[in-house]
Amino acid sequence: MSDVLAITEHRRGELRDVSYELITAGRQLADDLGGDLHLAVISGDVSGFADHLNREGVDTIHTVDEGEEFNHDVYTQVITQLYDDLQPGAVVMPNSVNGLDYAPAVANHLSLPLVTDAIDFAADGALEVTREQYGSKVETTVEVDADHVALTIRPGEWPAAEGTGDADIVSFDASIDESAVKSTVTGFEEVGGGDVDITEADILVSVGRGIKEEENIELVEKLADALGATLSSSRPIVDNGWLPKNRQVGQSGKVVTPDVYIAIGISGAVQHVAGMKGADTIIAINTDPNAPIFDIADYGIVDDLFDVVPALTEQFQ
Ligand SMILES: Cc1cc2nc3c(=O)[nH]c(=O)nc-3n(C[C@H](O)[C@H](O)[C@H](O)COP(=O)(O)OP(=O)(O)OC[C@H]3O[C@@H](n4cnc5c(N)ncnc54)[C@H](O)[C@@H]3O)c2cc1C
Repeated sequence: MSDVLAITEHRRGELRDVSYELITAGRQLADDLGGDLHLAVISGDVSGFADHLNREGVDTIHTVDEGEEFNHDVYTQVITQLYDDLQPGAVVMPNSVNGLDYAPAVANHLSLPLVTDAIDFAADGALEVTREQYGSKVETTVEVDADHVALTIRPGEWPAAEGTGDADIVSFDASIDESAVKSTVTGFEEVGGGDVDITEADILVSVGRGIKEEENIELVEKLADALGATLSSSRPIVDNGWLPKNRQVGQSGKVVTPDVYIAIGISGAVQHVAGMKGADTIIAINTDPNAPIFDIADYGIVDDLFDVVPALTEQFQ
């Protein structure tokens, strides 16, 4: 019997989607290991967040009242102390920018093996963790030869937990060694592209190299406006400087999980698909019937985007 400790994430006063995905992933692992699921929320607004996180499958929520913003040193100290207190079989963290910042430090302090970017796991006997490698071309299974492990999970791979839970909410008093806190957050600045976060969008209209010229992007923008959708893109569009980096979907861009993803003039290279295959419904518009995007699309239109996109825009306006 081993418990699981999952570390939730928030940014600028809001819980990130991955926090709810961590509940699903953590519950799955806790069931396999035959233990309880403990969540930790480290924040200034602990009680508000704890209420939101109290979803089906959570046994205990540990609230740690330690600052509004993410801080590497504070997170590392808090998680290390919580771990020492609970002695879980696994500590599960998000494979996000923040998670990848503190997870190696946590694993190092606790002398735990760390498996990053998990997309699945099973613990029938030994713990086996599934990962993707070589730009999502190969799936590998890592067998963990240890009783205790640290893991990070890829955002968008597990569904968000739903349903109200009846978890115990307990406050955890971490004892922070201030002399070991070497960094402080002095401000927060969004990089390029203003406040658009494509990972939060319900509908994404995504444009690829099939658009041919920068000025043609306006055509796709009009469709996005008509749908109340957010504009995203494949990498060549960003590499050409036609859209900012924060619009890029894919392995070296963002992982998105919208309800609807409309891929326009996008071939469906593995590095792109790695970022959008978690969308509920995928619609592809492409002149090439053999484009790989059609292998994962729910609906496909084999036609010229310069005819299809204006026609769709007119319909939705
Ligand atoms: C390490 C690494 C990381 C990478 N990371 C990413 C990433 O994060 N995101 C990403 O997207 N890519 C990434 N790539 C690049 C990736 O391999 C592809 O090159 C890229 O996804 C292709 O973009 P695309 O589909 O827009 O362009 P293309 O592959 O050129 O496809 C254009 C498509 O448009 C179609 N088309 C052309 N004209 C029309 C028309 N008039 N109407 C309709 N359809 C038309 C074509 O049939 C074609 O399928 C990465 C590559 C590497 C090596």
